[in-house]
Amino acid sequence: MTANITDVLAKVPTGLLIGNDWVDTDETFDVENPATGETLATLSSGGEKEALAALDAACAVQDEWARTSPRERSNILRRAFELVHERAEDFATLMTLEMGKPLAEARGEVTYGAEYLRWFSEEAVRDYGRSATVPEGTLRMVTRRKPVGPCLLITPWNFPLAMATRKVAPAVAAGCTMVLKPAKLTPLTAQYFAQTMLDAGLPKGVLNVVSGTSASAISSPLMADSRLRKVSFTGSTPVGKTLLKAAAENVLRTSMELGGNAPFIVFEDADLDQAVTGAMGAKMRNIGEACTAANRFIVHESVAEEFAQKFAQKIGELKLGNGMDETVTCGPLVEKSAQDNVAALVDDAVSKGATAIIGGAKGDGAGYFYQPTVLTGVPRDARVAQEEIFGPVAPILTFSTEEEALEIANDTEYGLASYVFTENSDRLYRLADGLEFGLMGFNAGVISNAAAPFGGVKQSGLGREGGAEGLDEYTTVQYIGVRDPYAEN
Ligand code: NAD
Repeated sequence: MTANITDVLAKVPTGLLIGNDWVDTDETFDVENPATGETLATLSSGGEKEALAALDAACAVQDEWARTSPRERSNILRRAFELVHERAEDFATLMTLEMGKPLAEARGEVTYGAEYLRWFSEEAVRDYGRSATVPEGTLRMVTRRKPVGPCLLITPWNFPLAMATRKVAPAVAAGCTMVLKPAKLTPLTAQYFAQTMLDAGLPKGVLNVVSGTSASAISSPLMADSRLRKVSFTGSTPVGKTLLKAAAENVLRTSMELGGNAPFIVFEDADLDQAVTGAMGAKMRNIGEACTAANRFIVHESVAEEFAQKFAQKIGELKLGNGMDETVTCGPLVEKSAQDNVAALVDDAVSKGATAIIGGAKGDGAGYFYQPTVLTGVPRDARVAQEEIFGPVAPILTFSTEEEALEIANDTEYGLASYVFTENSDRLYRLADGLEFGLMGFNAGVISNAAAPFGGVKQSGLGREGGAEGLDEYTTVQYIGVRDPYAEN
């Protein structure tokens, strides 16, 4: 049952979480509903002073927090997992209101985002080191994992809950303290999640939250402070590069989950109905606003026409509108500039010879709607084939040989997700070898999972989130060499 909007908004703390309290600031900012343009809430806006106060709070409890038992940290995460599920309708409503995704998808994100809490509650107690005798026999070697220390976690707007849990959960599991800076377009979910972590028993000071209008006013002083030991960022590649340069000053550990330009390759022997189902998930989930979103459909020339028709038919069944309406299956884009950008990409493709066989224009109403669109005959030099679209637009390009498909797929500076549809299983490892991407879906269009290592190569980033690898990002390995008791000296 849908939650009451006023009641849900009233549950969201509007201050900054610094140490023991949610504190208000004089400066504020509004959070807007992209489906209506209306203001949902007004939040405190933090800057340098508040960011440093948050780091003070994180540093004050770092040593004590690092000494808590893995089981204690695990239990807090498990309780948080349960609480997020108990509050599922609140979280789903907040995400639909501030980000625009349809309620059913927001509920899906609650399940997906909560899984990181459960997964890392389980990983927290399995953070093994190793023990050996060095080859010369002179030392006993012990390796152990220690928390990396206070972290800055910066999250994007497109998955307001999951991007926060994917960072906060492993940091908690490892014994790190942290300052979370949510995206200013969608801070409500993160603020409510932080309160949920406190309700789950997280000690005060471990998680601090500084929302605000100027991201760099918060991140720059933190990254210049030598007490900070790590920055984990999910967002666009240009901002990631700026942060990597800043991280060099204090040689910070970095995890960078950046942009994508995913190829979705359909071979002539693919089950086309299965490929269309995969395409709907890979392209239309989250209104196309996902780093893993299929960005270029690279389809064998012999089946391109049939695939395009079947895909367009499914896309025609989507209902564009306000995601709070349970019958809506495609919501608005997150802000006006996003809507304008998608429109410009489509116009550019059409001016270079592409055809919109469905969609191809902005939607009606006060929200930032764009019609779900399929473009055929897209030339490789069209902007839509080169840039991250971040909208419900599917450009179709064609190929004739496997080598050509690979060459088109890899012709990008990005390397996050890729998708391959074929009934020829020999192609699986051939393509896995050839595709320069951190993730590959084989006859599957939605592959993100808390148990799997998620991350990119090339300019899509560094490091992995989720899986066993996700915990490694928040630990540092210490080696202890112990004089062997049988050594001669
Ligand atoms: P963005 O880079 O504009 O913002 C991401 C976050 O960084 C926000 O919190 C923002 O406030 C902050 N930020 C912006 N400028 C900053 C600066 N100079 N210093 C410090 N922080 C700054 O990205 P976005 O528009 O919020 O998100 C969309 C992008 O995120 C897309 O490129 C998408 O592919 C990427 N993304 C990647 C993944 C992944 O796991 N690889 C997941 C989701 C989104």
